[in-house]
Amino acid sequence: MARESHAIAPGLELSVLCFGPSGGRKAYLQAGLHADEFPGMLVLRALARRLAEAEARGLLRAEIVLVPQANPIGLTQTGTGFLFGRFETGSGENFNRCYPDLSDLGPLELGADAAANVATIRAAMGRALAAMQPEGALDRLRHRLLLLAHDADLVLDLHADNQAEPHIYVGPALWPEAQDIAAAIDARAVLLAEVSGGNPFDEACSGPWWALAARHPEAVIPPACLAATLEMGSNDDVDPARAEDQAAALLRVLEGRGLVEGPGGQPRLGCEATPLEAMAQLKSPVTGLVAYHCRLGDSLREGDLVATVIDPLGEETELRAETSGRLFARHSQPYAWPGRVIGKIAGAHPLSHRKRLLLTD
Ligand SMILES: [Zn+2]
Repeated sequence: MARESHAIAPGLELSVLCFGPSGGRKAYLQAGLHADEFPGMLVLRALARRLAEAEARGLLRAEIVLVPQANPIGLTQTGTGFLFGRFETGSGENFNRCYPDLSDLGPLELGADAAANVATIRAAMGRALAAMQPEGALDRLRHRLLLLAHDADLVLDLHADNQAEPHIYVGPALWPEAQDIAAAIDARAVLLAEVSGGNPFDEACSGPWWALAARHPEAVIPPACLAATLEMGSNDDVDPARAEDQAAALLRVLEGRGLVEGPGGQPRLGCEATPLEAMAQLKSPVTGLVAYHCRLGDSLREGDLVATVIDPLGEETELRAETSGRLFARHSQPYAWPGRVIGKIAGAHPLSHRKRLLLTD
């Protein structure tokens, strides 16, 4: 194992753990891009230990890069007794949005040989990244993370949701290819979108492949980077035993894909994949206290009462399910204001108003 350190700003370093032989296949896993989403950090710590053991036994067949804390900027943002890790406090920008578009590569020599095209495109992505001159700590962080991940075959970005069951976001071109990954985290929702809006990290890695395939119909361009956002549970889940289980399951993903020698194997996935346009975000129209009538994991029918928003000095407002499906996320702070998302339901049928920006801010 080699440990690298990259300067993001004076006093801010990004630590990177590298395992296995470079120059062949590559997997990249990061956690804590939203610096206040904690469970993934513990999972990668456990996975690092397992990979070090596998490396000592000569079992690694690929380069595996881990970044257990991908956001050193966010980790400094403490105030009023809490860490704020989702947005950069200076700019207000979401740490998981606005990644550079690596499909913008200029003219490319492409043909019928898929492997040659992958090599050509990765080299062009490397040149495009090398030519960028990011300014400021936030853009330097985005650039560095993409530089570390852009040439990987597998990219897993470990997040968590406010109060949630494990779920996963991935592109439709990568499904059901990513089924083993969803099963590994025991996902209760799999949300598919080709473009979810805002250029999050996983799509900055995977999306250029299908954008280039559409732009060059004469060439054979496979979706060469399987990138996914894994929501490992609730933001505040810090449970070493659960992290060990999730790390063991991710190691089995690496084994199953031939990146680490070992038996692999996953349990059966317990849900169907559904379109991200079909995911209902339950938004409050009013201010008040939120009293939930449903638990995480409840199967809802359209029109079911999910929560009541109670104005301590006035009325009560009922919030009902806009679609049928599983309630897989709620908010941990029981207070709402107009537009605030207090729940997410994985529906099966696209909702007509769900366009362009499909993720929660
Ligand atoms: Zn996140």
